[in-house]
Amino acid sequence: MRHIAIVGSGPAGYYTAEACRNIFGDGGRIDIIDRMPVPFGLIRTGVAPDHQSIKAVSKRYEAVALTDTVRFVGNISVGKDVSIAELVSLYDAVVLATGAPQDRPLGIPGADLPGVVGSAAFVGWYNGHPDYARLNPSLHGTDAVVIGNGNVALDVARILAKTPEEFAGSDIVAHAREALAQSRIRHITLLGRRGPHQIAMTPKELGELGRLERAGPRIDPTDLPDEGADALLEPGQRKSVMLLREFAANPVARPVTIDFDFYAMPVAIEGEGHAQRVVVERTALDEMGRSHGTGEHYAINASLVVSCIGYQTPVIDGVPYEHGRGRFASDEGRILPGLYCVGWARRGPTGTIGTNKPDGLMIAEKIAQDIGEGADKPGRPGLDALLGQRGVDVITFRDWQNIDAEEVARALPGAPREKFTDVEDMVRAAGKLTGQAAAE
Ligand code: NAP
Repeated sequence: MRHIAIVGSGPAGYYTAEACRNIFGDGGRIDIIDRMPVPFGLIRTGVAPDHQSIKAVSKRYEAVALTDTVRFVGNISVGKDVSIAELVSLYDAVVLATGAPQDRPLGIPGADLPGVVGSAAFVGWYNGHPDYARLNPSLHGTDAVVIGNGNVALDVARILAKTPEEFAGSDIVAHAREALAQSRIRHITLLGRRGPHQIAMTPKELGELGRLERAGPRIDPTDLPDEGADALLEPGQRKSVMLLREFAANPVARPVTIDFDFYAMPVAIEGEGHAQRVVVERTALDEMGRSHGTGEHYAINASLVVSCIGYQTPVIDGVPYEHGRGRFASDEGRILPGLYCVGWARRGPTGTIGTNKPDGLMIAEKIAQDIGEGADKPGRPGLDALLGQRGVDVITFRDWQNIDAEEVARALPGAPREKFTDVEDMVRAAGKLTGQAAAE
């Protein structure tokens, strides 16, 4: 028997579990461990609440989780309830599928002012991640700056721009729905340190900006490179740039504006006790496409600044780490004997959810090569005994289904669910809280 532990129940974790199940069949036992009492990681708390079709992939993960060979072990904090070394001693292979849940630091003066938040926090807030449910971002001013030209920046700008009615059918959480309904933000600036040809926005997501009820994108046509140069772009990127050209050619007057400010590098955030403006340096690109400051500065008003410049994987003591790249140090997923990484924890925060499928298969094949028939490790019963000794309450997939049913029952008409945003409420809904705590 081979015993596999996967830490993290997001897309990378589930695709790895699926691949291990397919390779080992009944000769493998796979435990997917998560810090949260609820599964699916980024699908639940990263993917935008108004992108329900993307979230539907969790149905596939559910099918994996409901087999005898794969088990969800929720509410277990690796590093606190059980250590990596203990997991490695209990399982033939331990796979870190922990994603990249931390914001890359912006590292400019004023980045710690109130009113400045990272996308992990802001996205976690509107998606009801328990770590960020109390973020309370500043929506009292009229101007927001969103730093970055990737899909996360697009998500953030779109969520800030939408009317309450446009959230119908989404699973945006109540606290965000209510705060955004009161938001006074009317001008959103998307800061890109490079140009239209260098955006990291995909066409489907970019196209949505052109279909908002009260908001419209604005682009300075003089920022666009000569159209002939588009031929050198790969097809997806060319499509995105064509959309930018359409936006530039057809400006619409809407009460909420989303301005693309290209060749614009934030160098400081200023304000008296709170963000009031972003100081920006105009950039130019060298022949390698890298941006360099030109010395020309200007300021953009902003009482909310959301930095969407990418993510990093948290460091775990004793696990080799590549600091410059914000991910575990590995040889294509092999970190140390018995310890692997997959998904964003392996390759950094790039690619779509689907990218994790081949990634999961690759790591499962490496594990199969490395562990053979398994080394008679304790596996599941060993973990259960350890957690039992420590009095740790596990949330199983069946328990999650209780939470799920309650969230669905609480939903607004037409919405898929109303999420719990507090771990204790999740555990209570799972039927796992007893005594006084359950009664409160
Ligand atoms: P990303 O695609 O890597 O974009 C990061 C952006 O931040 C880039 O425009 C980058 O510019 C800019 N940036 C980096 N450091 C900066 C700095 N110091 N100052 C100013 N700008 C800086 O990352 P992401 O948007 O976080 O997305 C992560 C991954 O999730 C991507 O693969 C994305 O496609 C995916 N995602 C997909 C969807 C979807 O499909 N619906 C939604 C959300 C996210 P440079 O290019 O100049 O470095």
